[in-house]
Amino acid sequence: MSAIRGDLLRKELSIFTFKDLLEHYPLRHLDKTKVEKIGSLSHGNDYAQIAGKLVDIQIVGERRSRRLVAYLQDNTGIVEMVWFQGISWMEKMLQVGNAYLVFGKLSFFMGKPQLSHPEVEIYTPQNAEGKAFLEPIYPTTEKLKAKGLTAKAIGKFTQELFKKISDKDLPENLPVHLLEQFRLMNRFDAFLQIHMPSSESNYQQAVRRLKFEEFFFAQFAIQLVRISRHKQSKGLLFEKIGPLFNQFYEHELPFALTNAQKNVIREIRKDTGSGKQMNRLLQGDVGSGKTMVALLSMLMAVDNGYQAVLMAPTEILAQQHFNTITAQLINIDIKVSLLTGSSTAKQRKPILAGCEDGTVNILIGTHAIIEDNVVFKNLGFAVVDEQHKFGVAQRAKLWKKNIIPPHVLVMTATPIPRTLALTVYGDLDYSVIDELPPGRVPVTTTHRFENTRSQVMDFIKEQLGLGRQAYIIYPLIEESSKLDYENLMKGYEEVKSFFPEPKYWISMVHGKQTAELKETNMQRFATKDTHILVGTTVIEVGVNVPNATVMVIESAEKFGLSQLHQLRGRVGRGADKSYCILLTGSKLSNDARERLKIMVGTNDGFKIAEKDLELRGPGDIQGTRQSGALLFKLANIVDDKAMLEVARNAVSEILEKDLELNLPEHQSLKTYIQSIRGKTGWSKIA
Ligand code: ADP
Ligand code: MG
Repeated sequence: MSAIRGDLLRKELSIFTFKDLLEHYPLRHLDKTKVEKIGSLSHGNDYAQIAGKLVDIQIVGERRSRRLVAYLQDNTGIVEMVWFQGISWMEKMLQVGNAYLVFGKLSFFMGKPQLSHPEVEIYTPQNAEGKAFLEPIYPTTEKLKAKGLTAKAIGKFTQELFKKISDKDLPENLPVHLLEQFRLMNRFDAFLQIHMPSSESNYQQAVRRLKFEEFFFAQFAIQLVRISRHKQSKGLLFEKIGPLFNQFYEHELPFALTNAQKNVIREIRKDTGSGKQMNRLLQGDVGSGKTMVALLSMLMAVDNGYQAVLMAPTEILAQQHFNTITAQLINIDIKVSLLTGSSTAKQRKPILAGCEDGTVNILIGTHAIIEDNVVFKNLGFAVVDEQHKFGVAQRAKLWKKNIIPPHVLVMTATPIPRTLALTVYGDLDYSVIDELPPGRVPVTTTHRFENTRSQVMDFIKEQLGLGRQAYIIYPLIEESSKLDYENLMKGYEEVKSFFPEPKYWISMVHGKQTAELKETNMQRFATKDTHILVGTTVIEVGVNVPNATVMVIESAEKFGLSQLHQLRGRVGRGADKSYCILLTGSKLSNDARERLKIMVGTNDGFKIAEKDLELRGPGDIQGTRQSGALLFKLANIVDDKAMLEVARNAVSEILEKDLELNLPEHQSLKTYIQSIRGKTGWSKIA
């Protein structure tokens, strides 16, 4: 290959090595393996390859409709071929009386077969047999085409490459028992067949094998990280379940734990008693009771002489956790403090001192608690609530708050589909609360158009008459968006005119208020001082007012699925029947329509998350955007999730049995892993 072309391949398609070329997979294939009889061509053929004698050729039409028409005949019929471009060149090339092999897109005109712009070759006994494999069509770019590097030319390189290599150059990297168990094609054949398949079904098998390989090695890397962390990371040992935990559990617990909550507590107990550091992701749908799990875990830490922190993504939420937890711990001898961005210097001083000398047992707050000036005497347990609002970097900061890193429990109600969790958070251990506390009545969700708003307001009145409360939420796409705030204010005035004081009281919460004002307004709603809370998505996560039974979402078409689900989760938290009303304009995109349909159709956060993933694609899930872990060349975590599970299990089994890969059946795997670590073994394209 010339230097210029090599350069272009590198720049345009990131093809640097033979391996890159091998992994530059065809978009599709053309079937030139058969030579068809003209008489048997049917509408079922998109493309056709035929051989015959040229019997006539002529230029017809004027100007724009000027075209070259030629007729090819075999012993079963006659086919018309048409060219609108390159007319004079084709005319020179084609000779009446000669035999040709032609391939092109087939159509029928007045019942007669026609090939437009077919490829033409002189007929020879060799090509009369048809090609030995389906012809690959490669992705390319305009720049490459201009330099002659068409899809076909790239195909030539690939074919040349396959003439020079054998299965020794592409040795099997999966253990034979997996190939047998899952009927996977061997590696060399898979590469050969994905480029130049001898049949459609071989092509499918090749794709299947290579997808499996992608998942397998991605999982291998993730699981190795987790295992080595388990093995190496020394963790704080919580030796006992102590008096605080027991006293709380036996006398203060406000409700019986669900089995799911108990299981998670058990998992955490096991981890923290193992001497290794715990890094656990806890997923539980909105309202599943994650806060209680956090509280019980923190009590374990304090019983063992350690401090604990609970970090929430917003001030409102931190304050709420502080209120709930201090109320629940009223009879327990323990010091709980709150630290947020709006804590004054005067409030801060004793809290910081208490963290440093160990008198503060539990610190609740926003990311203010991970700032450098917050020093702990002996931090043993850190809970991160609503993890999707925090970055990995912030989590890492927590680790550094003690010489031996504290145990970390990351909680999220953003129901990450399992497949995604396995791929992105595969280095964390994973717990799930898959059960809601008993007595919850599912929220009824409806979609209404904006012109029925007055009926919706009447419905709210009815609910308020029963002593319940309501949320009305406006979209705030960007903190700085003037228009969004104007809409919110307009909405607020409108709601006020429907619900006049002093019969009704309304509080409003939005991002431009001071933390203090937000908190006051929230608090007035929580204590039933106000009937309606008008707000933006600042209340999206975590807020808990069980008496609220109506959630109206204005311009619901502007929200994403997971946001809608989070908002809906603010109601249905008590024993009363709750309602979520999605108000939209009349013009809806197909995607918006689909989202609304899903929301109306299900309350299941995990189903919604799966749908979200399907609609938006894996590249765009919150917090995972930069995660290379989701990007595979062939595999797709949505469409191929069953295979991902299979690959994941296969990897766990191998690593459990033979972590060092010493068994004879794992030697191919070991060799491969060593080779990709060093990244040698592949020569560069000249
Ligand atoms: P989330 O998982 O969304 O953070 P919370 O921890 O806020 O949920 O709990 C939601 C509500 O359910 C709270 O009012 C909480 O007191 C209540 N709750 C939690 N666990 C139980 C349980 N086992 N039985 C009854 N109510 C519970
Ligand atoms: Mg919560």
